[in-house]
Amino acid sequence: MYKMMTPGPTMVAENVRMARSLETGNPDVDADFCEFYRETCELYSSLLNTKNESLILSGEGILGLEAAIASLTEPGDRVLVLDNGVFGKGFADFVKIYGGEPVLYTTDYKKEIDAAALKAYLEKDSDFKYATVVHCDTPSGMLNDISKICPLLDGFGIISVVDSVSAMFGNEVKADEWKIDVLCGGSQKAVSCPIGLTMVTISDRAKKAMENRKTPVASFYCNLLAFKSYYEDKWFPYSMPVSDIYGLRQALENIKNDGDMLARHARLAEMTRNRVREMGLKLYGENGYSNTVTAIRVPEGITASEVIKVMREKHGILIAGSFDVFAGEILRIGHMGYNCREEFVEETLDALEQTLGELGYRK
Ligand SMILES: *Cc1c(COP(=O)(O)O)cnc(C)c1O
Repeated sequence: MYKMMTPGPTMVAENVRMARSLETGNPDVDADFCEFYRETCELYSSLLNTKNESLILSGEGILGLEAAIASLTEPGDRVLVLDNGVFGKGFADFVKIYGGEPVLYTTDYKKEIDAAALKAYLEKDSDFKYATVVHCDTPSGMLNDISKICPLLDGFGIISVVDSVSAMFGNEVKADEWKIDVLCGGSQKAVSCPIGLTMVTISDRAKKAMENRKTPVASFYCNLLAFKSYYEDKWFPYSMPVSDIYGLRQALENIKNDGDMLARHARLAEMTRNRVREMGLKLYGENGYSNTVTAIRVPEGITASEVIKVMREKHGILIAGSFDVFAGEILRIGHMGYNCREEFVEETLDALEQTLGELGYRK
């Protein structure tokens, strides 16, 4: 098996894989599972510095994003979509599917969203039910400063929906202090579980907005209200994937016991950027670098796919290209979660340097 240095899915710790292989009970009948589920949700919330309730949903990260939008959006709602990346823009599609009216606030994809400019915009127009923002826009490795953006939205009375799927646990998240209303996470990024779960954290204000809807949520699987009384009733809207949640619990315990996690991500992300610059390569962004992923411009005369192929076949390391507007333009190294170890990152950078040399790159 290759070393999977991609920006999600990441490699998975042995104790997480073992937890996923434990014998399981029946989550629909056995009330102990309901306790385990709630404790796991509470642990997750506490690691994101929030008292808000989190839900674990059976589905990949995209389900969490769609569930947030489906549960909040009513036909005709104006929604501010902060767009400085592929996932940022993508929220507009979900808003449309559920009948809302997305208003795109589009800025340079090479730069983080400037909170002062956003403030000036909101002073002219702040009539939005909620706003969406991506913490780390993974295809370009762009990190937005949600510590500034979410309190700003809150000041204008706008509910915030944050996609931190590929940022959380590699970049700090203080959900309560930063007034994040709906926070979306996923299992396969810095959490370092396999693909399959998404976590949605919901503030009381967002919950009220969902409960006070005039029209029903136009979905069953994406309806967060369907979880409303799961604990009291010991009943989930659908059978929960027990093994996935056992794995998640172990991964969250690993994070809790790792006092150096955020500092290590900052350190190794900086080391990666420095090494990339030393190789004469260019980073994609001009600012807003995430600690979880580094996006590198593909140098002239070389293609992303040949770099990925040689890295995998000769060096046993899988890195990623990018997609959508960045297809063929960007190479990405994921240094998040279990991947964020000095020896893995160094080995990856050494292999990249050799690979580029073999492909005829001269700095
Ligand atoms: C990975 C990711 C998701 C989940 O979607 P994928 O299908 O795994 O791409 C959502 N948002 C962001 C920012 C992500 O990086």
